[in-house]
Amino acid sequence: MPNTPAELIDDLVAANRILAGLGVVDGFGHVSVRHPDHPDRYLLSRSLAPEQVSAADIMVFDLRSSALGGDPRTPYLERFIHGEIYARRPDVQSVVHSHAAAVVPFAASTVPLRPIYHMSAFLRTGVPVFEIREKFGMTDMLIRTNAQGAALAEKLGDQAAVLMRGHGYCVVGSSIPEAVFRAYYAQLNADLQQRAIALGGGVIYLDDEEAAKYDETNRGVLNRPWTLWKARFAPRA
Ligand code: MN
Repeated sequence: MPNTPAELIDDLVAANRILAGLGVVDGFGHVSVRHPDHPDRYLLSRSLAPEQVSAADIMVFDLRSSALGGDPRTPYLERFIHGEIYARRPDVQSVVHSHAAAVVPFAASTVPLRPIYHMSAFLRTGVPVFEIREKFGMTDMLIRTNAQGAALAEKLGDQAAVLMRGHGYCVVGSSIPEAVFRAYYAQLNADLQQRAIALGGGVIYLDDEEAAKYDETNRGVLNRPWTLWKARFAPRA
């Protein structure tokens, strides 16, 4: 994690562009980071397509997802996802929300998303599915309130990812690079898992022990894709 807010904002802008460049987000979706000096605040762009986010677009929110300093700019409707996850998960430093197409079938189906290869070993302890109808009945599917964000964060529990029925998914990480990594490989796993299921035979997923071992390895190599993606999608001017 970079040391200064300026470096962190630089990484947050890069994360927006990387996620767009990798096709994890399009006109929709967002990525945030917990404030480095105030754990009860987080940084998130104003309402904007991630590919177009610059440092000047970053706003600061409290954990109720109210903008600080009377910032009058339009925030994302679904910012409550971020505030409520940070409020419940002190280990989480970064949150990504996406509608990536490959994940949506698993949010609609009873087939669980499971790690089909080592890159998505972080899914090994389970990927819960959030059903907004359970508490909120008929909605437009968006997380528009603190109560809805809290219900989503409760469904996430201690896991790395949560699927949202009829909508998309969220991943969390202990850093921006980890959250971006997980957002990318969660949707790639969903794509590969569907292909394996479509072959028609039995599917062998990673054993929990294999996945736990790779999770350990991954800590040492996480910086490699981040460095590549940053150079490719967010080069310094
Ligand atoms: Mn959404």
